Formats: sequence, structure tokens, C-alpha cells
Amino acid sequence: MRLSQISATLRDIRVSPVRSLGQTFLHDQNLARWIVKQADLTDEDYVIEIGPGLGALTEFALAKGTRVLAIEKDARLTKFLREKFRDRQLEVLHADALRFDVRALFAQQRVKLLGNLPYYISSQLLMKFVTYPSPISLWLFMLQKEMAQRLSAAPSTSDYGALTLLVQLHHRVKYLRTIRASVFLPRPEVDSALVRITPRDPEELPVCDQELFAALVRRGFSQRRKQLGKLLRPDVADWEKTAQALGFDRKARAETLSLRQWIALTNHVRPLEPPERRANDAERFPVVDKNDRLLGEASRAEVHGDNLRHRAVHILIFNDAGEVYLQKRSRWKDRHPLLWDSSAAGHLCAGEGYDDAAQRELQEELGINVPLGKVLKLPASARTGQEFICLYRGLLRGDPKPNRSEIEAGVFCSPAIVDGWIAARPEDFAPGFVECWGAYRRKKRA
Ligand code: SAM
Repeated sequence: MRLSQISATLRDIRVSPVRSLGQTFLHDQNLARWIVKQADLTDEDYVIEIGPGLGALTEFALAKGTRVLAIEKDARLTKFLREKFRDRQLEVLHADALRFDVRALFAQQRVKLLGNLPYYISSQLLMKFVTYPSPISLWLFMLQKEMAQRLSAAPSTSDYGALTLLVQLHHRVKYLRTIRASVFLPRPEVDSALVRITPRDPEELPVCDQELFAALVRRGFSQRRKQLGKLLRPDVADWEKTAQALGFDRKARAETLSLRQWIALTNHVRPLEPPERRANDAERFPVVDKNDRLLGEASRAEVHGDNLRHRAVHILIFNDAGEVYLQKRSRWKDRHPLLWDSSAAGHLCAGEGYDDAAQRELQEELGINVPLGKVLKLPASARTGQEFICLYRGLLRGDPKPNRSEIEAGVFCSPAIVDGWIAARPEDFAPGFVECWGAYRRKKRA
């Protein structure tokens, strides 16, 4: 929309822009077209647009044949958008984007997020929508220029801070261009900028304990001018030795450490170890016949290499809301690394029963101990990787304490989201889980 059209439209629909909702409308058509182009949209993408306003960006996203879900808090604008774009590809949601359940997007393919964000909540929106792991594959945000600079900052600059590192740990951020205040009506007091955020390749950086990384970074930047050694004294006993080993000055301040150095520091404080490879190789599993009768024992390599029938447990942990906890398998797993799986799962060891194995796996992987009920048993087949699988379920009040050497990340999801996610992106899941979940849902429905 051009400037004159925006003024006329606002008059027509009797809307005067609400400052407290961050309402400033883009009136440069060429710029709007250029912005949307940066998302490389195709008709296979699904766009979530935060704060569509009068549809300046929505129009160009729809022109690409893309399905768009536009989340707008102002009911006057949602009414206008529904009337303006009678497009079957557009769904307009009258809602507060801060309350949107991002997990629902796992049931969609090729999700991209677009938004000229309302600045009064832009950092909250960023923290909510730019998470790891995420169903979103690209974020294109128009932000206050200062925030865009902070997100994309390099070490030893005044913009580099906790926000930079927390976002860049899992994402690449590109500052695309500065956008003058004069292209908006009403004109904001500050300039804006467009940033494109994409997920990093999981192998790009060394892995570390994400919660500890965030805690150290926040503490390190709590007093920017102070030396890091003093701020982190409770976490790092011998700072001088640590600084020397990790290759930075002992008088370093938070802003001088690169992302890789922050990761190294986190791993120095609490190393994340891959599960003992040699212990894994030495593990012996029971080998069974087609009726799950014991035949003998074999090593992990033999069982998997020779496709021998063996035994496993899967456990589904639910919370009070009826949501099931899914784990993203660690990158160090020899089978199906970084795929999503049951809350906990594992093989039976030689001499172990199914029930005992289920409790052991729960403790080892999620650090919890709750009563488990047996749900069903799946026969060994090519689809289960020749495993007889006993499936259990349990209820957890509180949070699991995932073992970071075994589990990359985890999320509670409603069964409906899990159903939709498997249908939309079956390649995201370990095959054993897909079998277990399908059998579990069929049994629930029966
Ligand atoms: N995208 C439009 C454009 O570029 O012209 C409008 C951008 S304007 C900066 C921000 C928009 O976000 C407004 O339409 C405002 O009503 C909407 N908004 C404000 N708070 C919101 C929230 N919590 N959830 C969803 N939309 C919100």
C-alpha cells in the first residue's frame, strides 16, 4: 500500500494507529516486495506472519502462492485483512502472538516466520519464536535497528552481549539492511533493520550444556566492564589456568570472548561427554527367537550387524496436561542421531527383565523414577529393527532432568500435535518410536 492508500484505509476503517500496540505501517511497496523476497518463498512454504497490520508484507507472501497464517492482536485489523484478502491461502488469527503455541508448527512442513515486529515486545517475541530445536526453518524480522545490531554483533563491539550469544549458539544471523523511519506511517522515532535468522547445521559448533552456557553468559554480561574471572569465580576455580588453556587473556571481559570460546568455557566448567563408546561396545544383549524366547547373548555390534532379534523398552512420559515428552536423540547415538524418539528408550541388558530395564532407562535418560504401567508389546519385525518392544507409560509431575550426553533436547507435546508431526515430517522420527506411537494411538482409540 502506498502512503495515500494507508491514510485513506485507516480513515475508512476508522482506525487510528495505537502506539501501545507498536502500530506503524510500511508504505513503501518496493521495499515490502524486497523484504518478502529475502525469505525465498515458494508455494510449498507455510508462513507465519506476526503483526500483519494492513497486510503490507502479507500481500507479497500470498503472491508467491504461499499459505500464510497471520497473527494480529488488533481485531479491527483482522476484520480488515479478512475482507481485503479473500484468499483461501490466508488464515487470519485474532490473537496475541506471545500466546501462540509454537509446538503446533511441528505438524507443518517448511515453516518460515515473517514479521515487522511490534517493538514493545520484540525481544519477548524473539525469545519465544527463535528457540532450539524449532519447527521453523527461517526467521525474517524487521526490528529496531539497535536490536538487529545486537543480534548480529561480533565480539569486542558494544552491541555484542548475552542476546547475541544466546541466539547465535544455534542460529546464524544476517543483518540485511537498515530501514529508514520515513517508510512507515506513523513515523517511528527510531530506524529499523531487517535480519534473517537461519538454524545452524548441528555439526557446525561443538556441543555444550545449553542451560549452563546461558547461565554463564548472563552472569558474564551482568557487569560488562568487570573482568570475567571475578564474575565467574563461583563457577571456575582456577581462572588463570583456564584462561591459558582456552587461549584468552586472564583479564578478559565477557565481550572479548568469541562464541566458540564461550562454548569451550562451558565445556570446561561442565564437560558434556559422549556416552562411553567402549562400554557400549562391551554391552551384551539377550538374543531371542521369533517368540521372544531366549537363545543366548551377543554384542551390540553383532545384534545390529547381523539383524538378530533382541529386546527393547520404550517409555512415554506424560504430564498433567496429557502432553507426552519427546526426546531428540543425542548426536552421539550410533543409530538415528538427532531424530525424535520416545521419552526414554533402550535395550534390555543380558539377564534383565523388561520392567527393570524400563525403570533403569527412565533413571539413566530422564533422571526420574515414577511408577510405570505396561501398555503393549510389539513383535520383532523389520519395522522395529528386529526388536521386541515393551511400551510403558507413566505420569510425571514436574520436569524431567534429561541426561545431556544421551539427549540433545526435549519437548512436551499434545498427542494431536505428535500425530500431525509424524504425518507431516515422518523423517524427523526414529522408526521405533513411529511404530510405538502408532500402536499406542490405535489402542487408545479401540
Ligand atoms: N506488518 C505491518 C506492516 O509492516 O505494515 C504492521 C507492522 S506494525 C510494526 C506491528 C503490528 O503488530 C501491528 O499491526 C500490531 O497491531 C500488531 N501487534 C502488536 N502486538 C501484537 C501481538 N502481541 N500479537 C500480534 N500482533 C501484534
